[in-house]
Amino acid sequence: MGENERTGRCVVAVDGPSGSGKSTVSRRLAVSLDARYLDTGAMYRALTWTVLRSGVDLTDAESVAKVAGEVDLRIGTDPQGYGVTADGVNVDKEIRGPEVTGSVSAVAAVPAVREMLVARQRQIIANARRIVVEGRDIGSVVAPDADLKVYLTASEAARAQRRSAEDAADVAATAADLARRDKLDSTRKINPLQQAPDAVVLDTTELGIDEVVARLRQLLIERGVA
Ligand code: C5P
Repeated sequence: MGENERTGRCVVAVDGPSGSGKSTVSRRLAVSLDARYLDTGAMYRALTWTVLRSGVDLTDAESVAKVAGEVDLRIGTDPQGYGVTADGVNVDKEIRGPEVTGSVSAVAAVPAVREMLVARQRQIIANARRIVVEGRDIGSVVAPDADLKVYLTASEAARAQRRSAEDAADVAATAADLARRDKLDSTRKINPLQQAPDAVVLDTTELGIDEVVARLRQLLIERGVA
């Protein structure tokens, strides 16, 4: 029996580009495992909202880092509805708007920002017994010792279709925004979006959510952690 099987501890890392199904899969998996859920993208988004409100120039890394160091960011871990607050203000809705979406990749590329948020994410993970964590660098940087690392992909067309339906936005404009963010997220110098070498890769273009969640549960059972 493995250490985690004895303690019941379980960390699942879910990475992949926007629209790959990360959020839906991660939330459902967390519910089915009776685990916590951490949306690290929401943390970068909440910080971006704060930076935009502060009026700081997004290309001024030092000033962006200063804002990051001063804001009190909090995030819940309930997969059925977590709340994100910045200095006590709930920003769940605001962080999904086009302004934040258009600027988040620039803020997330600032090394000091990543250092702070990664440290916070590791704390949250350490305090949870079971947790599903989604993002871009979870399996590679935030939780390299995760019990299961998953990398979700989907065709560009499927990803744009899903995101535009979620945001009630034009498919072509969404596709252009996804391509722009993917490029920024996978080419930035520090902690780019990357597939951990030991990640299980699942293409969700043709797979239903239930099927993906069932496969992941099966993998966890095989590994003796769920
Ligand atoms: O997942 P979501 O689309 O909400 O993420 C928003 C942005 O936050 C990404 O485009 C990326 O720039 C950044 N991000 C990141 N590292 C993570 C999670 C998100 O850089 N672990």
